[in-house]
Amino acid sequence: MKRNRKAKILATLGPASSSPKIIEDLFVAGCDIFRLNFSHGSIETHRSNVEIIRKLEKKYDHATCILADLQGPKLRVGSFVNNEVELKKGDSFILDLNNELGSKKRVNFPHPEIYENLTPNTIILINDGRIRLQIIDQKKDSLKAEILNDGIISDNKGVNIPDIILPINSLTIKDKSDLIKALEMDVDWIALSFVQQLDDIIKLKDLVNNKALIMAKIEKPSAVKNIDQIIEASDGIMIARGDLGVEMHAEKIPIVQKNIIKRCRIFGKPVVVATQMLESMITNLVPSRAEASDVANAIYDGTDAVMLSGESAIGNYPVQSITTMNSIIENVEKDKNNFNLEFEDQELSKKIDNTDAITNAAYSIAKNAGAKAIITFSVSGKTTIRMAKERAPVQIIGLSPIIKTARKMQMLWGVNSCHSEDSANATEMVKIACTIAKNKQLVSADDKVIITAGVPFGNAGSTNLLRIAKIISKENLT
Ligand code: PGA
Ligand code: MN
Repeated sequence: MKRNRKAKILATLGPASSSPKIIEDLFVAGCDIFRLNFSHGSIETHRSNVEIIRKLEKKYDHATCILADLQGPKLRVGSFVNNEVELKKGDSFILDLNNELGSKKRVNFPHPEIYENLTPNTIILINDGRIRLQIIDQKKDSLKAEILNDGIISDNKGVNIPDIILPINSLTIKDKSDLIKALEMDVDWIALSFVQQLDDIIKLKDLVNNKALIMAKIEKPSAVKNIDQIIEASDGIMIARGDLGVEMHAEKIPIVQKNIIKRCRIFGKPVVVATQMLESMITNLVPSRAEASDVANAIYDGTDAVMLSGESAIGNYPVQSITTMNSIIENVEKDKNNFNLEFEDQELSKKIDNTDAITNAAYSIAKNAGAKAIITFSVSGKTTIRMAKERAPVQIIGLSPIIKTARKMQMLWGVNSCHSEDSANATEMVKIACTIAKNKQLVSADDKVIITAGVPFGNAGSTNLLRIAKIISKENLT
């Protein structure tokens, strides 16, 4: 499956897209990574979707990547007698630990561990920020607040408290149970919502125990503040603009987005821009002009991937949303005058090890020798990740004898990730690399390719070899 673009597309599966037919259509239309959203859907549905995706992997001989997204410590109010109430500006309203159904005066807020932190003046946002409350009196089991604007509040609406680091476990009981199930399903990436600080990532890493890569969702101001530490400890970052846009003013989001993409590129970690990218396509067949610009600008910023949420999970046009995203990306990437992601920042050119030196050289040689592809043969995927950081205009073919590595690397900008045979020596490796590239029609006879690998073979992180090879029409190398 050859894509004609560098940036990747994630699609969230949901009721609108949980059938073999739609999943296949999404895949063929350009979905590179499937996102299972553990805030919704049953474990059975997620499991059946994984099976469908892995069947497609075999059918199309294309490593497919699956991201399991854990809900994290999402705060919610309880239910109301008549499912909803209307709140009036200036009135007071109480959040408490009482289990009875809510009214105009009060509602259950079942998070006793944070009451102590919600001191007078703290702002509480309910229902995606539609209702703002300000605490005026705090007790161990109840919080009295002033209502700052009129609005409707209904059963189980989400609560955001932007200003403080909450003393809550980054992984709830549900998350821990979902994580076990997701790892049993052998997903490739685990994303965690509402990360606040480095420690949340350390705890998640401990539980994941190298069975998947880890993506931190940035949707809290505290995570934005601690961004470098979080990027360094994670394998990838998602700019989760939905909740982030509730917790911070919307006008700050573009600035945060650009900065996080830049930081991720400096650290060489993949970054995903998410939420409302083609929101109007939930009900319309075409995107708004602003949405087309939003997707395009994320690509101009150099993001590794863009994501669909409601558009593919619950929308009327999941497949068309992928086709649209695909086409926007292809168009930006053809814009030769403006689309140049080579980094001038000095920080990027700091050479720290052999892998850096090799990948950097591979790019220069590819440019000078007019090579059609850079092939990274990598057991752990590290060289492929490092290669993607260069944002080389030439295509990168990431090869790994480990299927799991090949799947994970599909997240990366510009990487066509393939599962390959293992090889015992450099000659065999060059032959395997050239054969795969040719068979998958990524290159043609007489094309030059640059190949990197580590000798001795089978050792992760030992990239030290660089070869120039020519694809010949029969089968192997020159
Ligand atoms: P969600 O995360 O879809 O799981 O809420 C993304 C976001 O908040 O933008
Ligand atoms: Mn979110």
